[in-house]
Amino acid sequence: MKEYVGACVRCGVKIYCMDGFLNGTVAENGELYCFECHDKRLENTEKSSRSSEDSEVNNS
Ligand SMILES: [Zn+2]
Repeated sequence: MKEYVGACVRCGVKIYCMDGFLNGTVAENGELYCFECHDKRLENTEKSSRSSEDSEVNNS
């Protein structure tokens, strides 16, 4: 079962609910994000002044 929920507000990718599993996230304000944009959004809010070119995420 695959139900269309909406589009990522940042990249516009379609987000579906599959068997109760959403392939994205819903923000507190109700906006939809895919996982990729959601991660970037968290990165931007956590370290706004630093620009990391590393693809690896190794927070300690
Ligand atoms: Zn996205």
